[in-house]
Parts: sequence; structure tokens; C-alpha cells
Amino acid sequence: MDTITNLTQDPAVQTILNRLPDHLAYFIDLAIAIQQIPAPTFAEGERAQFVQSRLQTLGLVDVYRDEMFNVYARLPGQTGAPPVIVSAHLDTVFAAATDLTVRREGHLVYGPGIGDNSLGVAGLLLLAELMVQLGTRPQRDIWFVANVCEEGLGDLRGMRAVVDRLDRNATAYIILEGGVYGHLFHKAIAVKRYRIEINTPGGHSWGNFGAPSAVHLLGRLIAAIDQITVPEKPRTSYNIGKIEGGTTVNSIAAQASLLLDCRSEDNGALADLLAQIQGVVNQLARSSEVQITMLPIGDRPAGQINENHPLVQLAAAALRASGCDHIHLNSGSTDANIPLSRGIPAVCVGLAQGHNAHRLDEYLDTTLLPAGMKQLLLLTLAAAEYKR
Ligand SMILES: [Zn+2]
Repeated sequence: MDTITNLTQDPAVQTILNRLPDHLAYFIDLAIAIQQIPAPTFAEGERAQFVQSRLQTLGLVDVYRDEMFNVYARLPGQTGAPPVIVSAHLDTVFAAATDLTVRREGHLVYGPGIGDNSLGVAGLLLLAELMVQLGTRPQRDIWFVANVCEEGLGDLRGMRAVVDRLDRNATAYIILEGGVYGHLFHKAIAVKRYRIEINTPGGHSWGNFGAPSAVHLLGRLIAAIDQITVPEKPRTSYNIGKIEGGTTVNSIAAQASLLLDCRSEDNGALADLLAQIQGVVNQLARSSEVQITMLPIGDRPAGQINENHPLVQLAAAALRASGCDHIHLNSGSTDANIPLSRGIPAVCVGLAQGHNAHRLDEYLDTTLLPAGMKQLLLLTLAAAEYKR
């Protein structure tokens, strides 16, 4: 009998699993309570404080916060074997002033950040609570971590600090992303990000007509990047996510900039794309009056474990045991990039079905939440080697 089937037949585990549907209302309320606390990347402090105080009530050990506001708590195992780390990112893409009002319609919960990643953080807290209720400790320590800086320009700083701090020999990282139930991310794609800034002398729109404009050049740069074709396999992408620049309507712009995000499943394909973009930049910068700088602002390393890795197999078995018959094995850029890039097994899993992530009209379908939690509990128990 496989590990997951064994676990589902353990009476103590069964008791916990059978009660999962009863926790649904509590679970959703907890996710909403977390969602109501603004937590833009680099300003996660208040949400971190909330999570820390919840963890402190559960009877875990080593509950603390580091200087970046990553929150840690440990459930001691029965042996000194390397630990399992379960984590969820605290931060959201939404600015502090965003209207976080929640609207509920049956199984649906609408609210910015509800699935990504308030639900992940709530799942982390509920998992910790259920593990304590279970009574019998697994063989391995489990660290529960709510980390900062997964989104935007955070560049996975939070997870880098977590992996630096915790055991280098950790047996597994289980990363929670609220809205992606049914998906298993086990391949971390490489991401490189740049701020490209154009500077010219500028001038008067009439008096200096013909002088180089940073805004006009930025437009040409964007159009040229937009013409670049990238391979479908290995999957490769680019996005100009933000532009800024200029002074006023009757000034030739002296300054303009953009933020660029480039991704690939393959480091070589990513390097090819970046070389093409660099070529476009060099073309535009030929005039001595034009300065273009390409400043790296993000570098997420690639790494992966394959489909046959025991952790992927366990995660897939846990998903199947929770009733999921269509499992998506995926590549992506998540907190799992950091452990995977350092050779530590990691998977990123979901808890329910989220929609419109990173948009103000984000919403969550909570129907599969008990299944999502069942999957997480079984996977964590298996990874931490729970035995009767
Ligand atoms: Zn997320």
C-alpha cells in the first residue's frame, strides 16, 4: 500500500479529515481576515504580526519573526531528521490604499488578494492547527513559514532569507498558493527583470523640434521588443508591465523608462531573448545625445525536480486522494524557485480555485476547499513521515 493510502486509513488522521468540511466557514473567515490587512510587497509587517500572533496561540515552538517580517513556527518532530517546510507568501500586488471590500455570492468570495495569497496563508494556519490537534508528532520537524516579497519587485527576497536560515538539508518545501488547486509546480522557470531608462537633453516642443525625445524613443523600443518572436518550446515570454516618463505636453521628454519581465523554461532561450533586446537597445542608443541604461531589478533562478521525484509522486497521490482526477504538472515562477535552484526538493500546491489573480475583480471558488486542505494535510504528513 502506498504512503498516502496508508495515511488515509489511520484512525487519528481519518478523524481530522472527516472534520474538514466543518472547518469550511472558519477557514473562509480566516482567509478574509487576512485579506483585510493590506500587505503590499515590502510592507507586510501588519499581516505578519497577525499571523505570528495566531501561530503563538497554537502551542508551537520557535515562533518568531525575522528582520524582514518573515514569520516562523516549528512543530517539533520525534527525531532530529531534516525538516519539512510549509510556506505561504504574505504579500499582495495591491497598493496599501486599495479598496479591500469583500463580496460573497454562494461559494464565491470576491476581493483583491483573496486567493493570492490570503487563502494560502489561512491554509498554513489551519494546517498548523490540525497538526497540533492530531497529537502524534511526525518523525520530522515541520516549519510553518509565512514569508514576504514573493510578488512584484520582491524578487523572492523573503524565501531566499528563509532558505538561508533554515536547514540546508531540508527534505522538502511545500509552497502554498491559494488559488491553484489541481496544479503541482515542480519546475521553476528562470525570470529576469530590467528597468530600461532612456535619457536625452530634452527641450522645447517647438523650439527644439527634431531633438531626440525619450518618450518617442521608448515607444520605438517597445514596438521593437513587441516584434520579437520567442519559441513555444521551451516556453519563453516577455512583458513590458509599466512605463513612465516625460515632463509635460510641450516639452521634448528628457527621461522615460519601462519595466520588463522575461521568462523561460530554459536558460539558453532566455539568454537569446535578452541578447535580442540588448540589440534593440544598442540600435536606439547610437546617437551621442541618447543614453539608455538597462538596470537588472530581478533575477529568479531556475531549478526543477522531475515528475518521478518522490515529492512530486507524493503530491500527486495526495491530490488524487482528495478527489482530483486531472492533475496539472506545471512550470512557473513561485517561491519554489529558491529551494529548487539550490537542489532542495520543492512543490507548489493550491487549496481551491482562484480566478483573476492580480486583478481587482479577483475571486475564489471555495467549493473544493475541503479537498484542497485534505491534499495539503496528507502531503505534509507523508513528507514529514507521520507514523501511527
Ligand atoms: Zn501568489
